[in-house]
Amino acid sequence: MQIGLPKEIKVKENRVALTPGGVGTLVRRGHSVVVQQGAGVGSGIADQEYVDAGATLGSADDAWAAQMVVKVKEPIASEYRYLRPDLLLFTYLHLAADRPLTDALLQSGTTGVAYETVQLDDGSLPLLTPMSEVAGRLSVQAGAYHLQKPVGGRGVLLGGVPGVQPGQVTIIGGGVVGTNAAKMAMGLGAKVTILDVSQRRLAYLDDVFFGKLTTMMSSEANIRALLPDTDLLIGGVLIPGAKAPHLVTRDMLGLMPEGSVIVDVAVDQGGCVETIHATTHDDPTYTVDGVIHYGVANMPGAVPRTSTFALTNQTLPYALLLADHGVGALGRNKALGLGLNTHAGQLTYQGVAEAFDLA
Ligand code: NAD
Repeated sequence: MQIGLPKEIKVKENRVALTPGGVGTLVRRGHSVVVQQGAGVGSGIADQEYVDAGATLGSADDAWAAQMVVKVKEPIASEYRYLRPDLLLFTYLHLAADRPLTDALLQSGTTGVAYETVQLDDGSLPLLTPMSEVAGRLSVQAGAYHLQKPVGGRGVLLGGVPGVQPGQVTIIGGGVVGTNAAKMAMGLGAKVTILDVSQRRLAYLDDVFFGKLTTMMSSEANIRALLPDTDLLIGGVLIPGAKAPHLVTRDMLGLMPEGSVIVDVAVDQGGCVETIHATTHDDPTYTVDGVIHYGVANMPGAVPRTSTFALTNQTLPYALLLADHGVGALGRNKALGLGLNTHAGQLTYQGVAEAFDLA
């Protein structure tokens, strides 16, 4: 099959959907890959690396003319003209939040397979996990930076020093984001408490981090009790398919020390802190009641090189299946089949249909 790898043109998107290693794997399987010139530059990958891996270089039109196009972000309006009935598009789509794109895919008859709805039997979302891992780890880095006095923080070093207490990191939600945040915070030497509503998850975290962190059931009383000593609060709550619940309300901010920091990673689902709103890497924080709020909705964008490699590690096996079998791959692999969102003008994913009352 011919596979196209366009450059991402959404503002500030520096990831790319295939690494040279991934391209090499596809080429060795007998597929051909057209890479748009400069596609990898934002992730520190030179065109020559793709050529060395067996790709040919071309324009955006050349990459989009391929039978299958592999991307990172959903097509933006200026890319709709490339959509067509014999195109197999494999990328993040997030259609439930994007009616114009949904209409464009349906009207064009494009087969759209969305990373975010590929789902394994245990309910996990393997193509979302790598970005949660990145965001979880980054949350501690961002929080530690904003705790510094020159940028308005409390002036606390998370690891402390010999003879001085370390900082306290409180993490709400012990899933992928929370676990990765905990690893980084413990690595820095901070005191870490993690809260979740799942007793099973707390037991798991207690087992794997035995003695190094405190687990607590997530309840208003427990959160209130922790806030006065919290230097860095990290939000990593997810209730699949729903808005995040506001577990830290405005009145609770007054319990936190002046200059403490909230990094609400769950901001993309509305956030678990009432006062959080989405911010950007250019202007990531604002302060409410003396507490610094960090609400960047696309945290992995800050580390595109790591994010590109993390994402493609997970997407490549599915891209290979699609390249080998075309749409037939969707019937062969149940997890990948759940990724199908649009085909031949039909909406094929229940959640998206419900979002637009088309079910
Ligand atoms: P996950 O499903 O792995 O973990 C969510 C955890 O929240 C689960 O363990 C669940 O039991 C727990 N939870 C649910 N209700 C709770 C409550 N009331 N109190 C405490 N815990 C509760 O999800 P994840 O992959 O860790 O993602 C977390 C959030 O981060 C999602 O909203 C995701 O979209 C978001 N995210 C944001 C970015 C970003 O750039 N801002 C990047 C990646 C992920």
